[in-house]
Amino acid sequence: MEFGRTPQDIEHNRRVFLIGFYAVVGSLILVPLGVISLVNARTFLGMVLIANSLFCILFMIYSRLTARVRGVSYLFSAQAGVLAVFLVMHGGVEGSGIYYAFPLALMMVMLGFTSLYSGLFLSFVFMGIVALGLYAPVPGVHEYSAVHRSRIIMGLSAFFMMSLISEWMRIQSYAAITNTTEKLSADANHDPLTQLLNRRGLEEGVGRMSGTDFPAVVSVLDIDHFKKINDEFGHDAGDAALLCLADCLRANMKGRDLICRWGGEEFVVLFRNTSLENARTVLRQISEEARSGSIRYGTQVFNTTFSAGVVQLRSRDAFHDSMNQADQLLYQAKQNGRDQIVSADMLKVV
Ligand code: GH3
Ligand code: MG
Ligand code: MG
Repeated sequence: MEFGRTPQDIEHNRRVFLIGFYAVVGSLILVPLGVISLVNARTFLGMVLIANSLFCILFMIYSRLTARVRGVSYLFSAQAGVLAVFLVMHGGVEGSGIYYAFPLALMMVMLGFTSLYSGLFLSFVFMGIVALGLYAPVPGVHEYSAVHRSRIIMGLSAFFMMSLISEWMRIQSYAAITNTTEKLSADANHDPLTQLLNRRGLEEGVGRMSGTDFPAVVSVLDIDHFKKINDEFGHDAGDAALLCLADCLRANMKGRDLICRWGGEEFVVLFRNTSLENARTVLRQISEEARSGSIRYGTQVFNTTFSAGVVQLRSRDAFHDSMNQADQLLYQAKQNGRDQIVSADMLKVV
């Protein structure tokens, strides 16, 4: 059975399944028991059991019609709790109603308890009511022997504790799996050195762009003579230069723009809902900061320049064509002597 792919879907479907299961299986048990009770002149018990099965079916239909799954599962949880308390107090046939309190208590925990503390609190309330009913002189409560009373309290308390621990462990392992999955998916989309998006992250980001993001601008940047930095100052100094440009890009671009380390010393930036002119202005600023800013690595101090090709991006589908075009413009910038930004209209800037 497929329970969904996202944590929200899985949790939603778990509740849908439990609501359906409880409503159908619960009614299959409660209706015959109710009818038997009515036939045997236990009118009140029979009516309570049949009314509860009707509630279950109605709640389930309501949850299907309105998609209010979480709210209905809390209602179910409360209803299971009230029915369990009733069966303990009433005693059913010769005090055997207590046996049905156990599955009902489990349903109450599975559908209603979202955290350990709220679960503990509700269990205490439940056990408090049961204890009060059994020990206080409440009229109409089944007369259990003293031994049975204490065993009911101990048995139900132990049952609550075990089911709470089991639910808590499920929620904890579920949270751990969700965190790991989110981390793995973030890792898969980011470059480990600069923490910028990687190629896959950029492509996913482009896939999520909407109509209001266009016209956008895409630019491919490549550090000039980067090999020389590695050769002269060492590979770690080269890494420091990559980090420095990454910080500079982050500082100058807006939060919703996409910044990607495309590979090696090549970066791609994507401006949302921007004109070519605006994007060029920002790129000029970045280029200025890169050229004048000193990169310190140990005792060495150096700076970098980059070349860039920049084009307008009119739709998501045009992304790969625009990238190719920006790449050709970058090549042109390199051919023209580097340290420059060449835009789609072949206007040379900087
Ligand atoms: P151009 O101006 O034409 O772009 O010349 P360039 O030297 O920048 O270009 P080239 O492609 O010849 O060299 C790129 C170098 O980038 C080669 C490779 O060793 C280096 N490089 C790629 N990835 C990394 C990295 O993660 N860290 C460091 N330090 N160097 C890297
Ligand atoms: Mg280069
Ligand atoms: Mg390169």
